[in-house]
Amino acid sequence: MVYYITTLMVYAGVDAIACLGLSQQFGVGGVTNFGFIIFQAAGAYAAGVLSLPSDSANGGFQSYILGWNLPFPLPWIGAALVGGLLAIPFAWIVGRRLRGDFAAIGLLVTAVMFNVLVNNYVPLFNGAAGLSLVPSPLQSALNPQSTGYQWGYGAVAILLAFAVYWVVTRLTNSPYGRTLRAMRDNDAVADSLGKNLLALRTSSLIVGGAIAGLSGGILVGFINLWDPQAWGYAETVVLFAAVIIGGLGNHRGAMLGALLVPVAFEEATRYIPPVPNDPNLVPALQWVVIGLLILAFLWFRPQGILPERRRKLATRAAPEDPGLPFAIRTPDDRGAGIPAGAATGPVAIADLPAQSGSEVILECRDLTRSFAGVRAVDGVSMTFERGRLTGIIGPNGAGKSTVLAMLAGTLQPTSGRVLLHGHDVTGLPAYRRARLGLVRTFQLASEFKRLTVLENLVCAIPGQRGETVRGALLGRRYWGAQERDGIERAQRMLERFGLLALADRYAGELSGGQRRLVEIMRALMAEPDVLLLDEPMAGVHPHLAHQLGMALVALCEEGTTVVMVEHELSIMDEFCDPVFVLADGRVLAAGTMEALRAKEEVVEAYLVG
Ligand code: ADP
Ligand code: MG
Repeated sequence: MVYYITTLMVYAGVDAIACLGLSQQFGVGGVTNFGFIIFQAAGAYAAGVLSLPSDSANGGFQSYILGWNLPFPLPWIGAALVGGLLAIPFAWIVGRRLRGDFAAIGLLVTAVMFNVLVNNYVPLFNGAAGLSLVPSPLQSALNPQSTGYQWGYGAVAILLAFAVYWVVTRLTNSPYGRTLRAMRDNDAVADSLGKNLLALRTSSLIVGGAIAGLSGGILVGFINLWDPQAWGYAETVVLFAAVIIGGLGNHRGAMLGALLVPVAFEEATRYIPPVPNDPNLVPALQWVVIGLLILAFLWFRPQGILPERRRKLATRAAPEDPGLPFAIRTPDDRGAGIPAGAATGPVAIADLPAQSGSEVILECRDLTRSFAGVRAVDGVSMTFERGRLTGIIGPNGAGKSTVLAMLAGTLQPTSGRVLLHGHDVTGLPAYRRARLGLVRTFQLASEFKRLTVLENLVCAIPGQRGETVRGALLGRRYWGAQERDGIERAQRMLERFGLLALADRYAGELSGGQRRLVEIMRALMAEPDVLLLDEPMAGVHPHLAHQLGMALVALCEEGTTVVMVEHELSIMDEFCDPVFVLADGRVLAAGTMEALRAKEEVVEAYLVG
């Protein structure tokens, strides 16, 4: 009985730790690693061969590498290290190129390769026979068979689970965790805001791998065996089931899920007496039940038992009289990233300082992009000058969004060059360009849905101290002050746009127009030198669109360069100079709207048709 209970305790600890690792990697970071169990297996193997004596010592009946006979706790530390190191080839294989479903398949394939290798390469891993006689921790000093040892092992496993919970919670509740969640919700947007997706995914894989490795180390010291068959896809499914059922993105949910699925279903029911004549029936039914549970949750409660909790950052309440839902608020609140002139009155383009139009900040030369042989953009050259609000118009499908994406680095051109501040940035990924001050918004809704409005804004702030694993682990004392400033700045921005009341709402719950505004404010929080806006006014209340236009003009007055793709010609008339007309992937004309309206070919191509 004692043995049964302590075994359950150890399994509970081990499974909870593994689920926390998966919760951090998959639930928070959105990295679907179907090879997760491999990291647990690798950690277990590492702990085994680090604690076993050399393989010739016991008559050579099994072969393995190392055999260093290290004292406790070094094998467990080694298990975590190996789990983390193994993540590096995985990250390298998935890399920058594979995302979402493709990354998941890539990780699965990698895991399959490891599995086949381990099962069949005898000198390294003793093939399918695995390892046996793995020493228990401290077995030279203590008696592993004693009741006290058993209870102690169970208690240590559970204590370590809480320690891991503490670590992942600290990571998740930091700017680093917020950035991971942003990447999970929309990676292309996170990229365009200067977040290094490769580094974020790699860190997710390493942290999750190290945690999984530790769990494997704890397990192998208890059962004294390492059997490669024990780490199959079924176990991966069980862990995913636990995290999904417990609640994606909620670490308490992951712990609960670990108790419900692997412990309750797999371990506790292991001792149900088999049906006579049909010993496989009970295990098979277990699998059916786990499968049905996953499906039921995916169907009816995808957020799990304990849903991800909403993180409320707002320190200020909304003003009592919100007035017009979209009205830009009082002009006297400075410092929200938009100069105070924004709402004071129209700023005519002629009023702009004369020298502001002289310096070319952004330029593209002969930009071409083909999709499946069709040239969506065909030799576009444009220059954008500091402090100007340049417009791009053109019929649907003219290639406007494609040009914008190539300027920002979201899309690589088939040929042609992009120059920022006179430097060729054609080869730079979007996040590097964003860090150089080139920030874009997207034509389609691109808010981080499961971040609050305020989090959407704060997330975009460049150079946050708590945005790395190290910074996050150092804690609030390290990044808290900067975070408070960021929140304050974001609140001022929200106040200016009349959205402070929505600060703690999930961005995914807002109306289309409100989401547009959140995206623009978020881009402004990144403090861009050059802001590329893809139809920012679409779906926005006309009154607000006008206010927004004035805010952009005021921004330009301060030296920011704005490029705006827009459908609404009245907006172009009022705010943009110069304006490029795109048609069929080429620049048809450029100039002031007045001049463009006088050109027959422009009128034919766009203004009428
Ligand atoms: P606009 O923004 O001016 O409406 P786009 O730049 O979105 O136009 O698209 C230009 C052309 O390129 C369209 O014909 C569109 O169908 C095509 N296109 C854009 N993106 C893709 C893509 N990812 N794959 C295939 N075709 C695309
Ligand atoms: Mg478009």
